[in-house]
Amino acid sequence: MGIASVGAPSLVIGPRYGLIVRVLLVEDEVPLAEMVRRGLAHEGHSVHVVHDGLAGLAAASTRQHDVVVLDIMLPGLSGYRVLERMRAAQIWTPVLMLTAKDGEYDEADAFDLGADDYLVKPFSFVVLLARLRALLRRSGEARPTVLTVGSLRLDPARHRVHRGDTEITLTPREFGVLEHLMRHAGEVVTKTDILRAVWDAHYEGEVNVVEVYVGYLRRKIDAPFGTSTIETVRGVGYRMIEPR
Ligand code: CA
Repeated sequence: MGIASVGAPSLVIGPRYGLIVRVLLVEDEVPLAEMVRRGLAHEGHSVHVVHDGLAGLAAASTRQHDVVVLDIMLPGLSGYRVLERMRAAQIWTPVLMLTAKDGEYDEADAFDLGADDYLVKPFSFVVLLARLRALLRRSGEARPTVLTVGSLRLDPARHRVHRGDTEITLTPREFGVLEHLMRHAGEVVTKTDILRAVWDAHYEGEVNVVEVYVGYLRRKIDAPFGTSTIETVRGVGYRMIEPR
């Protein structure tokens, strides 16, 4: 997610240079992980560190991160396998891979599996930071055409929505609200954000119209399936989450 929403009103402003980036760092070398964690935290970012591949995959599966920094040689599950399973599960969080090896084959492998960038150890923290910034800038553009949250799929080009194998018919306005929520899955979206994105810019009615449409959506995408995908964040707005 992340950079696609730079400038949006829901952003948290960090102390150093603006955007707080939520980084997942999967690195088993504890001193290196700690060095990177401290550096990123010092820049005002939020860093979630795990030390093995399985924990990395579990953390990435929450889709709560803007970027994943993924070591290749990891206990449990290698960085390659973590990346492969992430992409197979349609988790499109940008991934920067780290490795001690500097063979071009490794690099090709990483890119084939869907890595977004690659950094050879040892690296300087300044270079890592620059590469992360570049990665987040680029990732705003490269989105999968079909949006997925759990078993819910929305295809913006074909204007179709499915829950598993069942097609769901939505009105254009309902579709717009759902698309906006899914594009920001895992993030809190305010009613005003939704109103601006989906209604005419000159719409002067109540923001509560958004509540009405979220209600319609819940009756179509969740209630019949026993799921609960649109979470109400009291006093703020909504958040699209993976149903449990
Ligand atoms: Ca390692």
